[in-house]
Amino acid sequence: MEIIRETIEDLKEQYLADDRPWVVTYSGGKDSTCVLQLTLSMLQELHVQGLDQKHTYVVSSDTTVEMPVIEKYLQTKLDEITTFASKTNLKLSCHKLSPKVEESFWTLLIGKGYPAPTNTFRWCTERMKIDPATEFLSNLVNKHQSILMLLGVRSAESQARQASIAKRKLNQRGLTPHEHIPDAYVYSPIKHWSNEEVWTYLSNVKNQSTPLPWKDHNYMMSLYDKGSGEADCNIALNPESPSCGKTRFGCWVCTVVEKDRSMEGMLHNGEEWMQPLWEYREKLYEWRKPDSGKRDTRRRNGSFGPGPFLPQTRRELLQSLLEVEQETTQNYHHMKKDAPDYNPDEKVELIKDEEIRLIQENWDTDGDIQKSAFRIAQQFGRLMDESVETPLRNKLEKYSNTLNIDLFERIYEIEAYRKNISTRYGVIKDIEKRVVDFYAGEYREAN
Ligand code: SF4
Repeated sequence: MEIIRETIEDLKEQYLADDRPWVVTYSGGKDSTCVLQLTLSMLQELHVQGLDQKHTYVVSSDTTVEMPVIEKYLQTKLDEITTFASKTNLKLSCHKLSPKVEESFWTLLIGKGYPAPTNTFRWCTERMKIDPATEFLSNLVNKHQSILMLLGVRSAESQARQASIAKRKLNQRGLTPHEHIPDAYVYSPIKHWSNEEVWTYLSNVKNQSTPLPWKDHNYMMSLYDKGSGEADCNIALNPESPSCGKTRFGCWVCTVVEKDRSMEGMLHNGEEWMQPLWEYREKLYEWRKPDSGKRDTRRRNGSFGPGPFLPQTRRELLQSLLEVEQETTQNYHHMKKDAPDYNPDEKVELIKDEEIRLIQENWDTDGDIQKSAFRIAQQFGRLMDESVETPLRNKLEKYSNTLNIDLFERIYEIEAYRKNISTRYGVIKDIEKRVVDFYAGEYREAN
């Protein structure tokens, strides 16, 4: 295809035009793979002539709540690219950008009780995608004065995309200043490629001008068949990506969408082992509703209205997340044992130990006197070295014949939760309700 040669020549021209290092944003989807593949061919051609002097950063976003098949796929690709770059002596490195542990989905949802995100309270995108990307790119700009980002956007993707590409102000070299990061420029080498041209190029790995890190893209194509959605999710790394939640492979916990169609597609197409994830997301979707009984009736600032998930809800969420983790791992081994890439040591990890530690820290300040997060984790063989002793709990143990420690804790939580709120209005009512709910729960369990 002539367009391939033309694009590689354009890339060469851009590369040689200045000293700016390159950042290729890579989601593992077809368009970003297309740009990366073209870049790899171009770099090898320049390498032969000793002209590949600048560094290229291949950058991917990982929210740490990506669908397990997508997370694994992306990691495999990044490993292949790294090995390839080292074999071919290309000046290229791969970087996965994730939120800080204190900003992770589980720390905020289970630790602090943030209700699962909605369109109006979408607290996740900024923390899990935009902030890590902005920090990484800004650091690069500080180090190198300026950078050039290569995006896999195309006019043919949608009318909205066409309009946004047409609106861009380009400088003489066809670059656009990044909207939010000063001294970062954006270049879209395949903006005029059609869908068909992208797929044809990707189907012809063997006939390219240079070697590539992969033999084919069959697995990626099968993921496209299984999933659904608008396009690749690369928000922040790609300022023009479709709004978060509408992307082809979003986070598996995403409750911004009413139905997770990509997960649905996966479950119907050979990835049934992820069914427990689907059920957990449905639970988050229901529980975040203000009338679910799972949320506090006051906000953190004391005002009346749907507040965070109650401490009991958060304990249930952690318990059931770890159950889902265990069940999904078992399902994987049961269903995939004859698959060609089966790994008997594979474990689906949905939450990290460091997140559970931070959840416990948050619960401590909310009046959890039993180290409940550690106790729950230890039921699943996690964090076995963490102490579950607390001074208050130890003192109370002496009176456990006459004192219901669990009930004491439920009431104590109310006071701990409201310790920074000046008004006492409604506290007695809250305590009454908590006691009634507690005994109602015990009654239900007993019957
Ligand atoms: S895909 Fe959904 S959960 Fe993930 S960052 Fe976007 S809106 Fe949030």
